[in-house]
Amino acid sequence: MTSLIEPTNGSGPADAIETLLQPSGFAHFGFGPELLDALAAIGYSEPSPIQQAAIPELLLGRDLVGQAQTGTGKTAAFALPMLAGLDPEQRTPQVLVLAPTRELALQVAAAFNSYAARLPQVRTVAIYGGADFRDQIQQLRRGAQIVVGTPGRVMDHMRQGTLDLSSLRALVLDEADEMLRMGFIDDVEWVLGQLPEQRQVVLFSATMPAEIRRISQQYLSSPAEVTIRTKAADAGRIRQRYLTVHAPHKLGALERVLESEGGEGVIIFARTKAITLTVAESLEAHGYDVAVLNGDVPQAQRERTIQRLRNGQVDILVATDVAARGLDVDRIGLVINYDIPFDGEAYVHRIGRTGRAGRSGEAILFLTPRERRFLGGLERAAGKPIEPMEVPSNGTINQHRLDRLRQRLTGALNESGCNEEERALLSEILQRVAQEQSCSPERLALAALELSLAGKPLLLQGNDDFTSVRPQGPGREGYGRDRGARDGASREPRRGTARGERPQGPPEDNMERFRVELGWRDRIKPGNLVGAIANETGLNGKSIGRIQIFDAHSTVDLPKGMPAEVFESLKTLRVLSKPLQISRFRSSDQ
Ligand code: AMP
Repeated sequence: MTSLIEPTNGSGPADAIETLLQPSGFAHFGFGPELLDALAAIGYSEPSPIQQAAIPELLLGRDLVGQAQTGTGKTAAFALPMLAGLDPEQRTPQVLVLAPTRELALQVAAAFNSYAARLPQVRTVAIYGGADFRDQIQQLRRGAQIVVGTPGRVMDHMRQGTLDLSSLRALVLDEADEMLRMGFIDDVEWVLGQLPEQRQVVLFSATMPAEIRRISQQYLSSPAEVTIRTKAADAGRIRQRYLTVHAPHKLGALERVLESEGGEGVIIFARTKAITLTVAESLEAHGYDVAVLNGDVPQAQRERTIQRLRNGQVDILVATDVAARGLDVDRIGLVINYDIPFDGEAYVHRIGRTGRAGRSGEAILFLTPRERRFLGGLERAAGKPIEPMEVPSNGTINQHRLDRLRQRLTGALNESGCNEEERALLSEILQRVAQEQSCSPERLALAALELSLAGKPLLLQGNDDFTSVRPQGPGREGYGRDRGARDGASREPRRGTARGERPQGPPEDNMERFRVELGWRDRIKPGNLVGAIANETGLNGKSIGRIQIFDAHSTVDLPKGMPAEVFESLKTLRVLSKPLQISRFRSSDQ
């Protein structure tokens, strides 16, 4: 089915002037000069595999079922032959594209507009829910050959008689599996049932669930089938990793991942609207510029947000699945699945937001220990193993900070952000301070570098055991890094019982003492406390320090720097079916 015919245009010796224009790999489809010019202008020189396979079939007027994901060039695969077959003089809709979301509808309409840039008579209208109905009616009245819309709104316009499909030539179902997932399939079938007998139907879907197969069998006649196995190609470009983290540490782990892995554009996927807000607020509190995309964000604002992400005004987007459907921004270098996706398809879709336009991308999946059992399913959907990683440690993050500072400094040396005059003024300040303080240039440079930290500590200090969880041994989750091994010195905690005694000595360095309201009379043993606390906090059992058990209470030494949310989760912990009632140990407790 794939035709690999050499381009024929502009290759003869008499075409010397034409060869100044790059010969387009699209020319052999027989497209007119307007389409070819427009493609050259937006930098499409060679058809992608899906375009290579689908365009000739669609130009023949055949129905087509295409299995391909976003990022393969599927939009141009159907849009170009549709544009080539239009009658520009006829102003009523000839092509209808149904898309699952407003974002995708707008993107598809924008793609049509860019391909039709040299075809002034051709108009495309996007109609979708959540936008003014009368506006859309007016746009339709002005005449449009191409209509792109979401199923519900298209159906509404058809019912009201404001969308006349009597001269429709072709219907495209874009991301059909998404329309199924989002519950639009009845609407899609209703629309299919209203179409003229003679029409071309094109169905694109990333996956082919039984319901989509049924629709294609029922409504398409002997369709050409094109399957683009993008998984291997995508998987090659997207490095996929997962980290195991207990629920209370997810925010902490996220900040660490962003510090050490975040770069250009990042999308963080969360399960609910509420979580998108919590995550965004926490990141903002740490100085990140964050935008949120969820179902509550009004349409106009969503488009502005996506635009801000696209042009780099904002680097981090926290989104729910639905709000981020079809989101197509080339500069996304990292996708973080902060919450595990609903299923394998959603996973593949989410990570497909990175690695676009031939770039490489990173995808990091957060799993709580209990969610680890879903990993296999996601790997099957992704078509390759997802590698484990650890929550970046202080050491990793600090190394990153130093590297970044060095890069910024080198960058500033090579490319000044100041003009001549400003540089002269800065230089004057330097000379004056050097003279007044009689200090060396090196001391001065150091002070200037410190100033650039803007009061933020250069290095991350404190304990990073709370967020570091890693699998230990087959089939069993471990909790935290082995401090003894890392520090090069074995540091087995002393555990003891102290019936009726006062706590012996202060906690060791880096440890903080806590009190729990369970003691001898509750038959509590140190092992019960270690197990329960390790499970809840994600700490390695070895990181839990001295435990002393008294009649009605006990004390436990834990690494300093326990995040507030971890402390909160410990407060609700029950051990031997009794509430732990943990509190910070005060000297008056003695
Ligand atoms: P799509 O799968 O339709 O969402 O397209 C993914 C991205 O690839 C979009 O940014 C398109 O503009 C771009 N694209 C599609 N076809 C080509 C092509 N033949 N050459 C270069 N870029 C393309």
